[in-house]
Amino acid sequence: MGLFTRQDKERITAAIAQAERKTSGEIRVHIDRRGEADPLRRAAEVFTQLGMDRTKARNGVLFYLAMAERQFVILGDEGINAQVPEGFWTGIRDTVLARFKAGLFVEGLVEGIGLAGEALAVYFPYQWDDTDELSNEVSLH
Ligand code: CA
Ligand code: CA
Repeated sequence: MGLFTRQDKERITAAIAQAERKTSGEIRVHIDRRGEADPLRRAAEVFTQLGMDRTKARNGVLFYLAMAERQFVILGDEGINAQVPEGFWTGIRDTVLARFKAGLFVEGLVEGIGLAGEALAVYFPYQWDDTDELSNEVSLH
C-alpha cells in the first residue's frame, strides 16, 4: 500500500496548521498501519502517548486511523466534551469516512481537519497569544 508519502504527510500537516489559525484547539493525526487489537482503546492510548491530555484548555483532538482494521476515530479531550453538544464529531466523521470509502485517505483527512478547525473555532476561538502546543506532524506507526 503506497499510502502516505512524504508529500501526503506535508499536506496533512499544512491542513492542521491552517485549521489551528482559527482555533486554539490542537489537532493531531495518528495512523497505525499494522494491526491493532482494539482500535478504540488504541486511540485513547495514542492520545496519552502524544501528550494530548496536557494542553492548557484540554482542547486537543486526535484523528486516529487504523489502516488494517479500517477504523477511524475522532477523539476530543475533556475540555471539548464539556462544551460541545452530543454528536459534535458525527458529521465530520461521516464526511471523512465517505472519502475513505472512495480510497481518498489524504483528501478525507485534510477535509476533516478543515471542518474540525471551523467547528472548534466556535467554542475555542484563536487567541492572540496562541502557541502551538502539540506538533502538527503526522504521527505514523
Ligand atoms: Ca495552538
Ligand atoms: Ca498544533
